[in-house]
Amino acid sequence: MPLQGKDARDAAASAQQDAALVSAPETEEAPFWKRLTLEEMNPTQWESLCDGCARCCLNKLEDWDTGEIVWTAIACELLDEDTCRCRDYPNRHDFVPDCIPLDPKTVRTLTWLPPTCGYRLIAEGRDLYWWHPLVSGDPETVHDAGISTSGRTVSESDIPVEEYEEFIVEWPGQIPETEKPEG
Ligand code: SF4
Ligand code: SF4
Repeated sequence: MPLQGKDARDAAASAQQDAALVSAPETEEAPFWKRLTLEEMNPTQWESLCDGCARCCLNKLEDWDTGEIVWTAIACELLDEDTCRCRDYPNRHDFVPDCIPLDPKTVRTLTWLPPTCGYRLIAEGRDLYWWHPLVSGDPETVHDAGISTSGRTVSESDIPVEEYEEFIVEWPGQIPETEKPEG
């Protein structure tokens, strides 16, 4: 998967600057995520599409017979459950080898990316929601809007695999109805 929490927030900030630079000569120009395909984005723009929700850092269960994938509220052992940041993003594959790096191809291939995921939204030709840091300018809005996993998970370090089914949840696959705050 791509940058999580901390990295995403840093990237969001720099990407906003980058987007501003890109659009500087034409202030009416649409922001980069409305103009460019995933393949056309530069690394900074790409990383900034991650809203830092950490939904993709949750464990999933797959039905071997039907292939159906369901979410659990069990978070990767490297996830900081409050901030939704990966505790060791640069070295994560030393500990979590199946952490999937996202690129345009995988984004278009994976069936389980959350419907709120910035990469999925753009791949499907949709716009980012008001709470995405690139839109709001505030990395906290993904938490304020109840999109992130903050405060809603347990760590896989504490849960035996045979108990995972007890933690199946639907919210990571849903888009909550959440209004942009006034002002
Ligand atoms: S689900 Fe998408 S937007 Fe959310 S943390 Fe994962 S890659 Fe980023
Ligand atoms: S290692 Fe775990 S916490 Fe870190 S980015 Fe991958 S899934 Fe998320």
